Amino acid sequence: MTDHRMDIIWAPWRMAYITGDHEKEKAEEAARNALLPPLLDGGKDDCFLCQAAVCPQQQFPARYIVHRSESVMTLLNRYPYNNGHLLIAPRRHIANLSDLTILEWEEISRQLTRRVEQIRRLMNAEGFNVGLNLGRVAGAGVPGHLHWHIVPRWNGDTNFVTTIGAMKAIPQSLEAVCELLRQDDQSEMK
Ligand SMILES: [Zn+2]
Repeated sequence: MTDHRMDIIWAPWRMAYITGDHEKEKAEEAARNALLPPLLDGGKDDCFLCQAAVCPQQQFPARYIVHRSESVMTLLNRYPYNNGHLLIAPRRHIANLSDLTILEWEEISRQLTRRVEQIRRLMNAEGFNVGLNLGRVAGAGVPGHLHWHIVPRWNGDTNFVTTIGAMKAIPQSLEAVCELLRQDDQSEMK
């Protein structure tokens, strides 16, 4: 891994903010969405989690999907509160805990446990905020589709986090973290 890559994983905010070409970004997103197979039963067209639930594997990097199993998926938050901010969600568009099957519960718990340990090990995170916002009044950005947040914390990150809040991350940073986690998954499976 090059120093440059380390720099975007560890301190993306130090890099110059990329003046994004938003028209191009929107066109790329529309092209990606045009290639989507039909959504799962009950899926919503405008829900990025429902799109992630069915997208072809070639789109995983562009959608920052770290892992997707039969019923659960793990992806990086495009608007992170901190570096390495992950979302874990069932593939089905369901809003309530009581809608989860036992299998989904089990897979979500396994992913939560695994990702916390992985980010602690790979990114030296010193703590985590792990949780679930149920309903819009509780702060859920996508209230119809359950998703857990894992926000890694480092000593001294508070100023950064509270100043910036949810930010649009530099795409290279998201790609680099996604790649880091995916490569680590593969090395563990060997
Ligand atoms: Zn959804």
